[in-house]
Amino acid sequence: MNIKEKYMKKALAQAKIAYDKLEVPVGAIIVKDGRIIARAFNQKETKVDTTKHAEILAIQKASKRLKSWRLIDCEMYVTLEPCPMCAGAIIQSRIKKVYYGALDEKTGAVGSKLNLFRDFKFNHRVEFENSILQKECQNILQDFFKELRSQKSASINKEWVYKWKVGGEIMSKQALSKKVIHLCIISIIIIGIVFTAILFILKYDENGETNMPFLVSKISVISTVDGQDVENPEAKWDKTINQNNDIYVYVEKNVQYNKTETIASVAIENFKVEKNSNKGELKFYKQTQDEKILYKNTDEYLIDSIEYSGAKTSNSKKMEISNQGGIIEFRCANNNIGTYKSNEDTEINYGELLKKIGMNEEDLNATFSFDLTIKLNSGKSFKAENIQLTIPNDNLINEGKVGREINNPEGIVFKRIEN
Ligand SMILES: [Zn+2]
Repeated sequence: MNIKEKYMKKALAQAKIAYDKLEVPVGAIIVKDGRIIARAFNQKETKVDTTKHAEILAIQKASKRLKSWRLIDCEMYVTLEPCPMCAGAIIQSRIKKVYYGALDEKTGAVGSKLNLFRDFKFNHRVEFENSILQKECQNILQDFFKELRSQKSASINKEWVYKWKVGGEIMSKQALSKKVIHLCIISIIIIGIVFTAILFILKYDENGETNMPFLVSKISVISTVDGQDVENPEAKWDKTINQNNDIYVYVEKNVQYNKTETIASVAIENFKVEKNSNKGELKFYKQTQDEKILYKNTDEYLIDSIEYSGAKTSNSKKMEISNQGGIIEFRCANNNIGTYKSNEDTEINYGELLKKIGMNEEDLNATFSFDLTIKLNSGKSFKAENIQLTIPNDNLINEGKVGREINNPEGIVFKRIEN
């Protein structure tokens, strides 16, 4: 493409704008020292003014830009042969040279009907060259009039002219439908974003963190009845009876979470007795370091919180949890739910102790709660508050021992917290 064609393309771009606005598609540009200083398109219909030809509007813009009506050394590129009015204005403005594309056999004044630039002697002579991108310049006009004819029907004006109310702009059906499609796409995108955001907020509200690296996958409880000897020389058996509930909280990797995270620590805090049993008193203990004895219900091991640190492997005696997940253990004991005294010689069957002292299941109904915090080595922390646990007591009366496993315990909602 040569330089003339390059500039004519710019004039054609202006013609295209006119086309979309239902104007006869003619465009013009003015070039000075290799720079485009004005662009314009025909606006006769829009402005309801017969003088608003592309060439006139371009001359006005260039004069404004140069702050002079003399457009010396300026060249005009226009898609259609100028009419007598425009040719006159071009001579008056001292434009050096005009390049045009299509011929205008009906009203052209630069070669078709007459030639104001060549055949008449004025104070200024304008050079000219025609047929630059002639085909393209002709095609856009032909397409325009073809479309206009095809729209010709009884309701020509109603069908052809659409007013875009917001801008008050007049545009072709084509341009209007393009605009409508754009607006639809933008609307769909906006609705999509809003909808997704709402869904996300709702989901977060309901379930806390929706994609947790670690979860509490299971809580298991082993309850046993136990008697502690009381020094009493008068009775053969004198025992205080405790119900020991050994709790195991399983912290496991969430299989749906696909990034690598490791545990820095897991803490259980804020033990709260939600419902005490009718007899006895709930207390919380940590494990002993003794290999043989798991727990001792003595003040030395009482806890109001417990923290396991992340390690290579889990070790409950050292209060360590594998940084890939493991088990946190503690005891919730219901101490001193009754006493058993007897002078019988027979061995005590712990399974029958509760029955012997007249306990029933309801007496042992108890619920407690705690908070669980998981800290990760990446610096993130997640906390689940108020995890409720009801101590199992069925069968305890008859057998003195009961175990229960709660898989995927409900109501554990983790929320991201700041360290
Ligand atoms: Zn004209």
